[in-house]
Amino acid sequence: MLAVTDEAIVLALHDYAETDLVCTFFTLDHGKIRGIAKGGRRSRKRFGGALELFARLRLTFRPKDGLARLEEAEPISVFPSIRGDLDKIAFAGYACELTDLFLPEGLRNPRFHRLLTAYLDRLESSPCELLDRRFFEMNLLNVLGYCPPLTECPSCGGDPSVHGARFSGPDLLCAPCGGSGPAVSPGTVKLLRRSLATGRFGAVEFPPRELREAGEVLDSLVASHAGKEIRSLRFLREIALA
Ligand SMILES: [Zn+2]
Repeated sequence: MLAVTDEAIVLALHDYAETDLVCTFFTLDHGKIRGIAKGGRRSRKRFGGALELFARLRLTFRPKDGLARLEEAEPISVFPSIRGDLDKIAFAGYACELTDLFLPEGLRNPRFHRLLTAYLDRLESSPCELLDRRFFEMNLLNVLGYCPPLTECPSCGGDPSVHGARFSGPDLLCAPCGGSGPAVSPGTVKLLRRSLATGRFGAVEFPPRELREAGEVLDSLVASHAGKEIRSLRFLREIALA
């Protein structure tokens, strides 16, 4: 198979045999791929020092069933500001783990790729904000079709931003219809809608109460769709960022 070149973000790295690295990438045109970098542990220079977690790079590889064969990697950005800050490393690692968990192999998803790139750029250029993590989660769920409708209660058709809402499983029910999950005030429903409409980090401010409510909802949605423990979340909790 001919070698191809694609833009990629490193989602995960594992040592393999004596000197090799098995890498998981989110590429722009080929979706998620797993590949082997022969001698990648011994000679990182051959791959331009680009085989680092959450680095953005131009990757040349030979697609294969199973593991692709990595030929070359040239860094676009290794995100030095993220790498110099433990909190930012924790958020970037979490975003990459969620992407790896939620994305099937080989499925192209340019919107999701743009979202992850935008989040890494945001972490690189701005102070660490919990709100940005929430914005990433919200848009990740939306891009994958896991975000419940925020404009219409699925039970009565009413507007959940009038009397507030509650989560019931994966659905957001208006308050009069009930539901046993986390309560969401009318203001939070409106801010969530505005966030999805802007598509830009930092465009919508959440006051502390609304941010907490949105966080509870997003935590429960992410956990129910992930279907397994998110390891980097433990690290976020240890350094009191979650
Ligand atoms: Zn209702």
